[in-house]
Amino acid sequence: MKKRINLQYMILTTVAIIATAVMFTAVFYNIIKNETLTDLSNYTDVLVSSDAWGIVSSPENVDDKNITANYCGEIRITLVNDKGVALLDTEVDAYSMENHKERPEIMQAFKEGKGKAIRKSKTVQKDALYYAVLLDNGCVLRASKEVSSMTSLLISSLPVTGALCVVLFMVCSAFSHFLTKSIVEPIEFLARNMDAPESVKVYKELVPFVTTIRRQHEDIMKNANMRQEFTANVSHELKTPLTSISGYSELIENGMATGEDITRFAGEIHKSSKRLLTLINDIIRISELDATSVDESFEKVNLYDVAKSCVEMLSLNAEKNNINVSVTGEDVYVSANAQMMEELIYNLCDNAIRYNNDGGKVEVIVKHYEKDGKEGSMVQVSDNGIGISKENQERIFERFYRVDKSRSKSTGGTGLGLAIVKHIIAKHPDAHIELESEEGKGTTIRVIFW
Ligand code: ADP
Repeated sequence: MKKRINLQYMILTTVAIIATAVMFTAVFYNIIKNETLTDLSNYTDVLVSSDAWGIVSSPENVDDKNITANYCGEIRITLVNDKGVALLDTEVDAYSMENHKERPEIMQAFKEGKGKAIRKSKTVQKDALYYAVLLDNGCVLRASKEVSSMTSLLISSLPVTGALCVVLFMVCSAFSHFLTKSIVEPIEFLARNMDAPESVKVYKELVPFVTTIRRQHEDIMKNANMRQEFTANVSHELKTPLTSISGYSELIENGMATGEDITRFAGEIHKSSKRLLTLINDIIRISELDATSVDESFEKVNLYDVAKSCVEMLSLNAEKNNINVSVTGEDVYVSANAQMMEELIYNLCDNAIRYNNDGGKVEVIVKHYEKDGKEGSMVQVSDNGIGISKENQERIFERFYRVDKSRSKSTGGTGLGLAIVKHIIAKHPDAHIELESEEGKGTTIRVIFW
């Protein structure tokens, strides 16, 4: 990154220096050209209006280099008649010159009285500037001078421009190095101090970037901690039934269990392996819900039908615990994942039965719902069981959190049921969950779809 910024600065500097040199040469060349043309025009006017023209143009003096040098200096004078034939020239033999009628400055002078033109000289490094005036006698008097061409100006200024370029390049490279460092340094510092990003002072343009990075970093750390905790919990939860299976089977293997003990131990092994299976199923399910970011398939689901089927599945459990379960309400359709809806209602009803008192009651209500003029659908599972204290209400949706561990385990709980419910709600953007509970009185959990 540093290298790239540096390189870009350097390229920019080089281009800027070259462009400036070319531009200055062009401006300079333009000034020279205009000044020369003005000189030529003044000079021609003076020649025409004074006797000097007579001296220079008299046939006997044209060939006299001293006279022409005195009057003309570096300026070349040509006289062309109305047919374009050169009558005299201060530099070459007029008779050897080709017809000048088509020369732009001559044509313009015949037409407008005055004419000018610039042409490349035969020697590439020079440009010839021409200024022509129409005389009273119908001839055209042309003055011309050669000036350095732009290429030659550029070439001649090359040593100075080159030296300037080197100096500027060095200054700019030092400056770009310093600038790059000042841009990149806070970012590098932030990268090195990711664990304490609050302490990093950055310039204001970087604040949104740092805020996002900070938030992402916190999320990553939180997720990492959660995963670590989850793995530790999973290992611990799996260890208990496995230890029991291993212990009982070892006793049987060693012949230390006889008669009735064998049956009892086999029963314990069976119970522990069932528990292991439930646990593994729940772990797999929560990992699946964790992994998939977008819901697979949403369809029209009748929550009333789902509730009835869940209660049906749990009827044996309810009977065993002497719990009366009822489902009331109406057909309510929501757009949801059918399997997830079944898991959600099943988990809520299962808890309402398991954390109830002997002879208790569970009421499932499915109906349309309205609040503040907003219409929705609702599934409500209420029980008059043991209830949940205020401080525990905030935590029961955490993975493996149980208020009463032994009760949960003895009733076949894994501590993952409500965590799965929370995940399912999160996967349905229109749904939210509400919990009302009082210790010793009972619990009501409501899922509302807007
Ligand atoms: P578990 O498998 O232990 O039931 P859950 O995640 O389903 O795990 O529930 C977490 C804890 O919340 C339970 O252990 C229990 O203490 C409490 N809980 C859940 N539902 C109820 C309820 N209806 N009444 C009382 N306590 C409940």
